[in-house]
Amino acid sequence: MKLAVTGGAGFIGSNFVRALLAGRHSSLGVERISVIDNLTYAGTLRNLDGVLDDIEFHRTDICDTEAVTGHLDGFDAVVHFAAESHVDRSIASGQPFMRSNTLGTQSMLEAAAAAGVGRFVHISTDEVYGSIPVGATDEDAPLAPNSPYAASKAGSDLVALAFARTHGLPVVVTRCSNNYGPYQNPEKAIPHFVTTLLGGGNIPMYGTGTNVRDWLHVDDHGDAVAALLGGTPKESVYNIGGGSQLTNLELARLILDELGLDHGRVDFVADRKAHDARYCVDDSRIRDEFGYRPRRDFTTTIQETITWYAQNESWWQR
Ligand code: NAD
Repeated sequence: MKLAVTGGAGFIGSNFVRALLAGRHSSLGVERISVIDNLTYAGTLRNLDGVLDDIEFHRTDICDTEAVTGHLDGFDAVVHFAAESHVDRSIASGQPFMRSNTLGTQSMLEAAAAAGVGRFVHISTDEVYGSIPVGATDEDAPLAPNSPYAASKAGSDLVALAFARTHGLPVVVTRCSNNYGPYQNPEKAIPHFVTTLLGGGNIPMYGTGTNVRDWLHVDDHGDAVAALLGGTPKESVYNIGGGSQLTNLELARLILDELGLDHGRVDFVADRKAHDARYCVDDSRIRDEFGYRPRRDFTTTIQETITWYAQNESWWQR
C-alpha cells in the first residue's frame, strides 16, 4: 500500500508514521509513506526525527488542491489528520479552524478523488457530539458541537460523508476521544500540566476541574486507524473511545503524584467559555466489527508519557 498521511508532523500523525515504520501495522503492507503538512506552529519535523529518510515529506497546505492532487498521484490511501486542533485557539480566533478543518477537508477529498485514491480515513473527534452529562454517544447521536474547533470538525465530517455519497469516494470517519502520548504540543492538557510543573509553576485548572475526559493512548488510536485502513468497513463512521475516564482534577493529581509533588500545586482559573462537561463515546461498533479495543494499560502508559516529557525538555523547550 502507498499511503499519504496529512498532518504527519503533528502529534497523532507523527506517532502513526513512527508506528508504521516500526512495523506495528505490517499487515497493511505499507511500502511508501508520504507526509503532507504545512508545518503550522503545531507541526514540526522534529516529530519525525530519525524517520525522515524513510518517508517523502511535502510542506504543503491541504487547501492547495492542485499541489495536493499531485502529491497523491499513485497513492492508494489517505489518512487525514491535518487540522487546527486546539479548542482555546479556536475560541480566540475561529477562522483558521474553518479554513483548514472544513475547507481543507473538502480540498483533500477533491484531490483524493482526482488522484483515484481507493480509501480515505478522515480523523475526527468525540467533541462533535458536544457535552454528554451521562451515558455514551453512539455514531447515530446528533452532532452538537459547542466550540468553534468542534464545529469545524463537525463540518468536516459532514463534508466528508456528503462527498462520499456524491462522488463515491470510499471515506470512513473516525471520532476518537482525547489522546495522550509523546510528541504532543505543550499547549494541550497533559504536556501543559507536566511542563508547567517542571518549570516550577502550578497547574492552571479551568473552573472546578470536574470536566471529564476519556483518555486514549495515541498508539491505541493508531491501531484503530490501521484496522479501518486494512479492513472493509461496513459503516461510514466509527467512534474510538479510551476507556479511561478522569476529571481534569483527577488527572492533575495523578501527574502531581507521579512527579512527587503536593496536590496544592493547582491554581483554579476562570473556566473556558462553553467548556464541555463530559465526553464519552460508545465504541462498540469498531470493537464488534474489527475486534479492536485499546490494549495499552492506562496506569503504565500515562506514567511513561509523563516521564517522556520530563526526559525530553529540549523537545518542548523549542
Ligand atoms: P496537532 O495540532 O498536533 O497536529 C496537526 C498537524 O496538522 C500539524 O502538524 C499541522 O502543521 C498540520 N496542519 C494544520 N493545518 C494544516 C494545513 N492547512 N495544511 C497542512 N497541514 C496542516 O493535532 P493532533 O492532536 O495530532 O490531531 C490530529 C487530528 O486528530 C486532528 O484532526 C484532530 O482534530 C484529531 N483529534 C485529536 C485528538 C487529540 O486528543 N489530540 C482527539 C480527537 C481527534
